[in-house]
Order: sequence, then C-alpha cells, then structure tokens
Amino acid sequence: MKYDCIVIGAGPAGSASALKLSSLGYKTLIIDPCDTKKVCAGILTAQYVKRYGINHDFVEKELKGTRISFCDIHAQISYRKAVEYSINRESFDLFNLNEALIDGSELRKERVSSIEEKGAHIMIRTNKGSITADYAIIASGISDLSKLYGGTRKYAFCVQQKKYVEPDNYYEIDLQPGVYSWVAPKKNHVLTGSSSLAGFPDIPGEKGLIPLGPVKKTFSKRFLLAGDAAGFVSPFEGEGLYYSRRSGEIAAEILSDAASGKNTLNDYQVRWKKEFDFSGLTMISYLISDRRILEAFVRSTRDSEEFNNFVENILTGENKKIKIQEIGLLIKMLSKIKGLLPKEK
Ligand SMILES: Cc1cc2nc3c(=O)[nH]c(=O)nc-3n(C[C@H](O)[C@H](O)[C@H](O)COP(=O)(O)OP(=O)(O)OC[C@H]3O[C@@H](n4cnc5c(N)ncnc54)[C@H](O)[C@@H]3O)c2cc1C
Repeated sequence: MKYDCIVIGAGPAGSASALKLSSLGYKTLIIDPCDTKKVCAGILTAQYVKRYGINHDFVEKELKGTRISFCDIHAQISYRKAVEYSINRESFDLFNLNEALIDGSELRKERVSSIEEKGAHIMIRTNKGSITADYAIIASGISDLSKLYGGTRKYAFCVQQKKYVEPDNYYEIDLQPGVYSWVAPKKNHVLTGSSSLAGFPDIPGEKGLIPLGPVKKTFSKRFLLAGDAAGFVSPFEGEGLYYSRRSGEIAAEILSDAASGKNTLNDYQVRWKKEFDFSGLTMISYLISDRRILEAFVRSTRDSEEFNNFVENILTGENKKIKIQEIGLLIKMLSKIKGLLPKEK
C-alpha cells in the first residue's frame, strides 16, 4: 500500500502534521512503537493556549505565573492577562494522536529503522517490513533515527522526579549558570527536575533530553524534520510543545503545496524561520550563563516592574522574537537598576 505521506513519531509534532494532512485529504500513515515514556514538565504555555485553546481533559492545574530564583533572590511574575496550564503529558499526547486518527490518519505501532529517498517516492523500513510514500515527516524527537537523517545532536541533559508535596499554582524555576531547575505543580504532586549542559545531573529520577536550538537544514527532497527532531525548543525556558505542534502543521502545509506543485520542500525552512526566531532568546540564555548577569536578571525581575513585565512577555509568548535593540536595552536596564551589575574585582 502506498501513502501520500508517512509521519514518523506520534508526539505533538507528528500528530499535528498527521491531523493537518488527513484533514486536507492526504492518505497519511503515522508510525510509532508507542512505547516511549515522555519525560516532560508538562507546562502548556500561554502562547500555546492562545493559539490552540485548551482541552480540560488533560489539564492538571491552571497556573497564575512563574517564580524565578537565583540563590536567595526570589522573583514572582504574575501573569496579567495570560493563563498557562500544567498538563498530564501522556493524556495530552494520546488526545492529539486520537484527533489525527479520527480525522483519517492510520497508525502502525512499529519502529522505523531507515528512510530512503528513491526518485519520486520515499521508502520507509520498519521492524516489520517496508512501506512507500510520496513524502515523509520525521517527527521522531531526539532519537537515533532523527540523528541519522540530519536531526538534532545538541541537547541539554535533564533528570526529573515526582514528589508528593502540596502543589502551588506557580511554575518555579531556579537558575544557576548552565543549570536550570524546575518545580511543575500537578493536581496532587509536583514534578521537580534539573537540566544541565554538562551531562545528566547527579540526582535520582527519569532522564530526558532537550534540544538546544534548530538544526541548520530541516528539509530534504522528500522529507522534512519537525519538532524536537529539528531542534525547535525555546533556548530560554525549554518550551517545546508549542513549537512541535506548530512546526508539524507548517511541515504538513508545505508538503501539501509541494504535492500540488506550488513549491518545493526548501520553502519549509523559510516558513518556520519567519515564525520562530530564537536568536534573541539564545542571546539572553548566553548572557545569563554569566553569574553576575544572572543575579542582576533575577534581582531586576524582583525589583523593577518594567523588567518584570519584560520577562513576563517572554514567558507568555507576547514577545518571543526579541530584537537585537531589545537586548541592548536589556543590558542597559540591568546595569541601571541600582548598579546591579557589580564591578569586576
Ligand atoms: C525534562 C523535560 C521537560 C520538558 N518540559 C516541557 C514543558 O514543560 N513544556 C514544553 O513546552 N516543553 C517541554 N519539554 C520539551 C517537550 O517535551 C518536547 O519539545 C516535545 O515533546 C517534542 O515533541 P515531538 O513530537 O517533537 O517529539 P516527542 O514528543 O519526543 O515524540 C517523538 C516520537 O517519536 C517516536 N519515535 C522515536 N524513534 C522512532 C522510530 N525509530 N520509529 C518510529 N517512531 C519513533 C517516539 O516513540 C515518540 O513518540 C520538556 C522536555 C524535557 C526533556
């Protein structure tokens, strides 16, 4: 049997692209062994909710904002207009996959071992045989398969564990240079975790990986990379669920246009670059890897309303595409506020 498109991976990126493709009438097959445990804090940001709304079946808690701390400096950012949700990640993934299946996509619980572009089609080999399609979307997260076909190889190492303590309604972040730790409140427990660039933190818990930014090339003649496979995660706070879903949709739209001869797959790179600009956030992450700047950053978030609003706008997605001028402004603000950038000794 030949498909118009094979989507590899049934995470948020794969399910979103399959849903879009089947709703456009394309014969779509999703392949995923469906045996992977997703390690995730499960925070659906305000930018996600604004675009896609929320289904309360997978919501664990509505959150009022974020607390950021560095050593004994604690700042609270209460969202003025936006809401974000802490969700159950398994239910969220199942919900999204079901939407695609209801819309006509098929699912095979198999593991893909190789992908071969052969003239006008693509051959996918799995542990159970081979299948042909016109196109494929590689949405297999950070995996050996993604790596084989140009997927991300740069990531932060995370460990997360469940703790039965009273959950609050703020997401909490603790920052240290190169280390990001979190407490994500759920219905009756919290998920605490830590991520580091230097290897898995030496704490008990489940291990996961977060990409550190987009790969250089996200397209080939017959396939596109979406979600974590392409490295689409915000370098500031590790938000990936929004970018996975959105990139899955964009990939599907590009394939649809390519199938009707309106474009080539190269246009994918142009489209997502227009929407996802991580350069400003990358710059901020780089700046706060310096201890003194990080301290000033958290202190300013605590003490300055203007700065608090600036950080709120990043976290809620009101301002994710930070411009270079804003970075200059940010440095000025940090140095202005009570001389918060201490002089070098
Ligand atoms: C510790 C941690 C905390 C996080 N917290 C948040 C958060 O709070 N909010 C947020 O927005 N983001 C968070 N993220 C990021 C988010 O989890 C990812 O960005 C998101 O899951 C990526 O979705 P995806 O669909 O690209 O990949 P995935 O969800 O990883 O799905 C990939 C799928 O591909 C399948 N697959 C793999 N190999 C193969 C193969 N060979 N054949 C077939 N199928 C295959 C897997 O089974 C899997 O189902 C966190 C990540 C980590 C590690």
